[in-house]
Amino acid sequence: MHLVARFFPEGDPRVDDVCDFVERLKQRTAEYTPPVTWIPGANAVETILVGELHYLKHENTGTLFDANVRARTYDDCDLQKRSIYRAAQDYMSSPLGLCSEPLVWQRLREVEFQCPECRGTDIQLGGGSKAAWADMVCPCGTFFEIKTVNKWVMKGVVNRNQLRGGSYKYFGAQRRHDVKHYMLVVPKEGRNVLLKRIKYVQPKIDAKLLAFHKCAPEEASLKSHAVLERDTRNLFIGHPLDDYEQECKYIASTLLRLFFAHDARIIQKCWKYGKKNVTSG
Ligand SMILES: [Zn+2]
Repeated sequence: MHLVARFFPEGDPRVDDVCDFVERLKQRTAEYTPPVTWIPGANAVETILVGELHYLKHENTGTLFDANVRARTYDDCDLQKRSIYRAAQDYMSSPLGLCSEPLVWQRLREVEFQCPECRGTDIQLGGGSKAAWADMVCPCGTFFEIKTVNKWVMKGVVNRNQLRGGSYKYFGAQRRHDVKHYMLVVPKEGRNVLLKRIKYVQPKIDAKLLAFHKCAPEEASLKSHAVLERDTRNLFIGHPLDDYEQECKYIASTLLRLFFAHDARIIQKCWKYGKKNVTSG
């Protein structure tokens, strides 16, 4: 497997070890459960963002890590623990991906979008990072993943029919339950919103994965690249999302402050207490 080999000098015996590790991860299976669906109201964006923060803070019990994603060799691959606040802060610094979901869903309702598999129009918003591959779902068992992309990523979609995907194991589990997967590609600059069927996914082998292999193999999970069908359906012309992105960032940072206000007060108290000790001592 040359994707792993590019992180090692030629003939390095550790390559086989990492390849085995990737194979084991590929075998990991997940039970597919239907995603929770809900109908967005006027405050859809806030609800999604609060849901994400809540998930990070209260339900994600695993340790959070920062990987050196620019590492080019295995020896440079590196993983550091990070606080839940740092993780949330990073997560909320680019909320557009999440915020565009209700926007797209609403537009699809307006243009009377039909499910490509069953022609039904009762498409529900899945939403959030918990619902793997299921930003929107049709009751017939068709899942739609929404990806908001810049013009460079869009080029990759148009020229090579490839795009970063989500969890590898959930895709496999869903496929075993006959779920049909589609990708909805939303260009950030406006222009046509595309619908393409996902042919299959490939495991993503990058510096982050190798860092997990080295430092925390039991916490590793495979991400994926999605390989899309050549056939494309233009759904509607989107609006440029710059202003909307700014708005979402403002909402996200406000929510982050409110959500972590309690912790912030504790940190502040500790700091004051420590400082008092230092200055009086
Ligand atoms: Zn359907």
